[in-house]
Amino acid sequence: MISKSNKIVIKIGSSLLTNKRGGVNRTVLKNVVKDIVWLLNSKKEVIVVSSGAISLGRGKLDLKHDLTLNESQAVAARGQIELMTAWKNEFKKYKKQVAQILLSPSDIKNKKSSKNAMATLENLLNFNCVPIINENDTTSTDEIKFGDNDILAAQIAVLINADHLVLLSNVDGLYKEPPKNNKNDDLVLEVKSITKKIKDMAGAASKLGRGGMISKIKAAEICMKSKCSVIITSGLKDNPIKSLINKKTKSTKFIA
Ligand code: GLU
Repeated sequence: MISKSNKIVIKIGSSLLTNKRGGVNRTVLKNVVKDIVWLLNSKKEVIVVSSGAISLGRGKLDLKHDLTLNESQAVAARGQIELMTAWKNEFKKYKKQVAQILLSPSDIKNKKSSKNAMATLENLLNFNCVPIINENDTTSTDEIKFGDNDILAAQIAVLINADHLVLLSNVDGLYKEPPKNNKNDDLVLEVKSITKKIKDMAGAASKLGRGGMISKIKAAEICMKSKCSVIITSGLKDNPIKSLINKKTKSTKFIA
């Protein structure tokens, strides 16, 4: 149960946080920050993993063509400023400060770098400053190519011994089959182990463009091995995180 968790990692992807015009989806940002502040006021430690740098950079630089991988890296460097400004300004409304952390998967694998990253995160939490992490797109391309920070968020959750990873998506969770007529009867509510059947469902969902489910299942697999539960839920609702306490909220929970 998320209400019993102490350390929570919340991941929000580009397609949720940014719009097609390369701007910030203000409604989503407002709703997510409101709920993170509620968690902080409930004495939870929260770490945010946010993508959106490429999308915002593309908007600012007014680039319409398909970007090469190297171009995406450069565009991310421009967009990262916009991304952090958006988070900073929204948290400021609640008198909360944020800090930017850029990490690569290799930093997490390396013993010395991961120890330093952990110490930085712990100190920021002690300073009541909300860490906002993105992949370091200048030096690494893993999450640009695949996953949109899902795997990075899982690695961070394991690194800091988080109890929960919340993957905010633009769908309600993992569907057995694509939802028909907006009914949620095909939503998988709880997963206790990641079987081939679950992976097959995620594969089908990803093919239909329903939120890159495969990387989310991979993220859940990484977390569950380290006793960290994962929730996939839609970030498009009014209280995307607070509403998870209400059992009626649509989500898929991966119980560690
Ligand atoms: N680090 C990338 C970004 O912030 C994530 C990958 C993506 O969204 O495509 O844009």
